[in-house]
Amino acid sequence: MITRSPAPLQRHHDAEPLELQASWQSQLAGAVRDPRELCRRLGLAESWLPGAEAGHRLFEVRVPEALLARMRPGDPQDPLLRQVLPLGEEARPAPGYVADPLAEADHTPARGLIHKYAGRVLLIASPSCAVNCRYCFRRHFPYAENAPSRAQWDETLDHLRRDPSIREAILSGGDPLAASDRQLAWLVERLDTIPHLKRLRIHTRLPVVIPDRIDDALLGWLGATRLQKVVVLHINHAQEIDAAVIEACARLRDAGVTLLNQGVVLRGVNDSVDALADLSERLFEAGVLPYYLHVLDPVAGAAHFDVPDDEARELVAGLREVLPGFLVPRLVREIPGEGSKTPL
Ligand code: SF4
Repeated sequence: MITRSPAPLQRHHDAEPLELQASWQSQLAGAVRDPRELCRRLGLAESWLPGAEAGHRLFEVRVPEALLARMRPGDPQDPLLRQVLPLGEEARPAPGYVADPLAEADHTPARGLIHKYAGRVLLIASPSCAVNCRYCFRRHFPYAENAPSRAQWDETLDHLRRDPSIREAILSGGDPLAASDRQLAWLVERLDTIPHLKRLRIHTRLPVVIPDRIDDALLGWLGATRLQKVVVLHINHAQEIDAAVIEACARLRDAGVTLLNQGVVLRGVNDSVDALADLSERLFEAGVLPYYLHVLDPVAGAAHFDVPDDEARELVAGLREVLPGFLVPRLVREIPGEGSKTPL
């Protein structure tokens, strides 16, 4: 197995190399959490600061160094920066944009568990993320009410034990890989003992924003489970995929993981055929299949990212003209109450 020691990373906007801290945990703890610091590091004009501070008061800034290093300095339209830079627009009410756009509160039969679709349940394995994406449909999620203790996890897992129709456990969050390996190993060992469970799916952005998260400790518990493993990454732009991300993906594949991506079509980030085609090509170079392309969930504070459904359909039609079918993601919307994602 390849062991990668964190290499010095060259920042785009600095002549000096940025020495990343040794562990993923310290990179997580050391993420930029101050809007002033974010604007300063990216060389943005002072005029961006009031909006950044206003948005930060609604949903705090969080950007790990490894992601910051892939942004272009002095460019407020950088597609990675746009995903994490708070804006004053977030405070502006928009009709139809609500705190819980997928009505998840109606589907939580046990603490830390969301059961919306037949055959699979979602476990909130961590209340926080390594990066705070401004368009996140869970930006208002009441994580404090859904963070089970170990005793409560046992009760939550009883829900899975009692229902033989459940074949798949999905670790979500927040970002499940923001939890410690000890916690995750504990949880996955218990899932392993539920005979009717076949698959473990992990929805995460951590291998993208802190690729060092895919370390030997993680691969240890992941490799030990009898469950089939699927990791669904969340990548919206080709610029997110650098050499370290490709290596993290390779390590996951070597551990027997199927890698899929689900992105979101976002105004100002990837709302062109070229950007989406580059994303699909780059994903495949990393061994990841572009599976879903979501339209934006109407979460309060994110209306400025919206790409109307008709425009999104045209973008995907444009992808069909330039890509083989297996690189064209399925365009979907999640509609509360529907038994699955709705193809557009
Ligand atoms: S849950 Fe995913 S989309 Fe939402 S803030 Fe965390 S990493 Fe970003």
